[in-house]
Amino acid sequence: MDFATLRDRMVDLQIVSRGIRNQSVLNAFRKVERHRFVPKEFSNSAYNDHPLPIGYGQTISQPYMVALMTDLLNLTGVEKVLEIGTGSGYQAAILSELSNKVYSVEKIESLAEKAKATLKETGHGNIEIIVGDGSVGWSDYAPFDAVIVTASCPKEPISLMRQLADNGRLVAPVGSSFSQVLTLYKKKGKETSRREICHCVFVPLIGKEGWEAEVDG
Ligand code: SAH
Repeated sequence: MDFATLRDRMVDLQIVSRGIRNQSVLNAFRKVERHRFVPKEFSNSAYNDHPLPIGYGQTISQPYMVALMTDLLNLTGVEKVLEIGTGSGYQAAILSELSNKVYSVEKIESLAEKAKATLKETGHGNIEIIVGDGSVGWSDYAPFDAVIVTASCPKEPISLMRQLADNGRLVAPVGSSFSQVLTLYKKKGKETSRREICHCVFVPLIGKEGWEAEVDG
């Protein structure tokens, strides 16, 4: 089967079937060539229903998890979005299809460089990647309409919440190093609401407002 067919099957069997109906989100997943974001040896598994290694002990999330988090952000094409944990750049590419501008922070320089090269090849130009500790956000460009954290947070991501615009949405896995709860925060005026979505497992966010270093529990 060719990659385009595998991609359509991924969308129908893993994403639509689990309840995601937003057509612009589904279109982005039909369009972005996920196999270009994974190491060559995994190209043939790029559309399978699980995460994959991308080097340096990091992973590209399961397609459904990327779709669920994206869907929760409710993007309409005009937003300024902040992603923490660029990794392969795949989530950033999906966000770039659905918003006006994406800022993405990655801690590991080699991953950031590789993601930049991939996104240049795939023609996703409205993404700016920076190397650094994203646990404290990116205050120079705040506020953001949407923030997505693709690594696990040991506690509520306070600095990131502060960098949300009014009516902004933030989605992040919050919990222990073994298991987290995907949590959606929404800011309205001075209030921030919080909704628990589902259990999930992400690699750790390492930094000032993340885990201290390689975690053991
Ligand atoms: N969104 C990515 C997957 C990210 S995996 C994708 O679509 O492929 C989580 C990433 O978070 C890893 O690349 C890891 O290096 C990065 N990370 C961990 N702690 C971080 C921090 N404090 N700031 C920025 N990135 C961090």
